[in-house]
Amino acid sequence: MQDIFSLSLNALGIMLEDAGFQKFRAKQIYHWLYVRYVEDFEAMDNLPKDLKTYLNQTFTSTSAQICKEEKSCDGSVKYLFQTQDNLSYEAVFLKMKDDKFTLCLSSQVGCKVGCSFCLTAKGGFMRNLSAGEIVYQVLAIKKQQGIPHNKAINIVYMGMGEPLDNLENVTKAIKILAELDGLSISTRRQTISTSGIAPKIKKLGALNLGVQLAISLHAVDDKLRTELMPINKAYNIQAIIDEVVQFPIDNRKRVMFEYLMIDGLNDGLDSAKKLVVLLNKLKAKVNLIYFNPHEGSIYKRPSAEKMEAFREFLLKKGLLCTIRESKGLDISAACGQLRERAITQDEDTQHDNKQKEIQWAY
Ligand code: SAH
Ligand code: SF4
Repeated sequence: MQDIFSLSLNALGIMLEDAGFQKFRAKQIYHWLYVRYVEDFEAMDNLPKDLKTYLNQTFTSTSAQICKEEKSCDGSVKYLFQTQDNLSYEAVFLKMKDDKFTLCLSSQVGCKVGCSFCLTAKGGFMRNLSAGEIVYQVLAIKKQQGIPHNKAINIVYMGMGEPLDNLENVTKAIKILAELDGLSISTRRQTISTSGIAPKIKKLGALNLGVQLAISLHAVDDKLRTELMPINKAYNIQAIIDEVVQFPIDNRKRVMFEYLMIDGLNDGLDSAKKLVVLLNKLKAKVNLIYFNPHEGSIYKRPSAEKMEAFREFLLKKGLLCTIRESKGLDISAACGQLRERAITQDEDTQHDNKQKEIQWAY
C-alpha cells in the first residue's frame, strides 16, 4: 500500500490515469484530504465506486497517527506521532502573537548530527521520515485543532531531525504542502532550520523553492561551535556563511541565525560583538533562544537580563534581533522532549521502576 500523503497532485494524477481514471480526479481527492479533512475514501461522495475501490486497494491514509498530546497553558500543544513501524516523532502547534499559528515539524526520527545540548541527538538516529509522514503532521494538527482550511499558517522545520539530511523527502513535503489545490501553504511561509550542512544548503538554494532559511549558529568561534555541534568540524562557521551569501532569498526577507543562549558559555557581550562582525555583510536577523534544560543536561538557561543585554547590543549595532517566545515551557519546549517523556513513562509502567536511567527506544 502506498501512502497517499507522499504523493504530489501531479504524481497522483498520473497514477490515476495509468489505472484508467481521469486525471482531474486527483484534484477532487486532494480537496477531500486537505481542504475538507476527510481521509476515508468511502466518504468522498463525488467519486465513482470503482475509483473508491481502486483507492482502497492502492493507498493508505494511516501511515502515522497522533498517539499523545500535551497542552501548554499558553495555548501551544505538542503532539506525538506514531509510525506504522512503531517509531515516534513529534510536532508542535504554536499560537503566536496576533493570533498567528506556526507548526513546528519533524523531518527525521532522531538525528545524526549529535549536538551536545539537544535531546533528540541523545537517542541517535533511527530513520528519515517519508514525505507523507512529514505532510501528515500538518493535516492531523489542522484537523485536531479545528483550523479552517484557508487560515494562513507558518511552517518551521525545527522539530526532531536535520531537514537537510533528508532533503529529498523534505523538499517533496514542502511542495505537497504548497499545492494550491491542497493545503496551499506558500513556500515563503516555510522555514528550513539547519545545523549548517554547507553542500546541502547549496543544493537547497539551487532548487529555488522560495523557502526561508534558518541557520542554527549558536557560537561565534569554531572551537565552541565544534564543542556544541560536532558537525562544525566538517563545515565550519565560514563555510556556512559562504553558502548563506549565495542562497537565493526574497528581497524583503532575511536569513535567520538562531543563537541558543547558554548560561556562561556564549551569552556575554564579547560574543555579541563577534556576532555583529560575523553577520555584518549579510541580510541577516538573529533569533535568540533560551537554552531549555532537560534531564541530564550540563548546560543552564541564562537570565532574562543577559538575553535582553545581548539583544540590545545587537540592535544598537544595527542587527535585527528577536528573542524567541518561550512557548510551551511547561510542556517541555525543545525538540525531542515529549517523545522522551512518553518513552520513559511507558517503561516506568512496564517495569514499575521509577529510579532507573532513561532507556532510549532506538
Ligand atoms: N536540526 C535542525 C532543526 C531542528 S533543531 C537544526 O538544528 O537547526 C531546532 C532548533 O531547536 C535548533 O535551533 C536547536 O538548536 C534547538 N534546540 C535543540 N535543543 C534545544 C534545547 N535544549 N533548548 C533550546 N533549543 C534547542
Ligand atoms: Fe540534530 Fe538539530 Fe538536535 Fe543538532 S539541534 S542534534 S542538528 S536536531
